Amino acid sequence: MHLALEQARLAAARGEVPVGAVVVGPEGVIAQAGNRTRTDNDPTAHAEVLAIRAACAVLGQDRLTGCDLWVTLEPCAMCAAAISHARIGRLYYGAADPKSGGVAQGARVFAHPQCHHAPQVYDAIDADASATLLRDFFAQRR
Ligand SMILES: [Zn+2]
Repeated sequence: MHLALEQARLAAARGEVPVGAVVVGPEGVIAQAGNRTRTDNDPTAHAEVLAIRAACAVLGQDRLTGCDLWVTLEPCAMCAAAISHARIGRLYYGAADPKSGGVAQGARVFAHPQCHHAPQVYDAIDADASATLLRDFFAQRR
């Protein structure tokens, strides 16, 4: 999670909402990313999506079976769907996201009958550090 938090800090330095994600395989870290929606002018450039894309590119495959994803904030519905499509084995996330989260609230993507693959979910990992980063970021922008 410390790598994901570092990606979140780098995202904040770019003026992005501080969220970071890391894909870990059996051999270790495969890819990591922070939010880049503003940098890339891409509303889908969430940390999770970018980390999954990068990991798939590294491995040369369209699924990440046997890999885990660490992310500092509860994934939104779009990212949860991407995590499902990627066949991520375990999802570890930090802070809950009452506004946009799609795992434990909102769309609850993994609990939906149409969801073909649900990862094991571990929440509230280093949640305070993730939440503090987000709170400080938005406090500075007010
Ligand atoms: Zn997302």
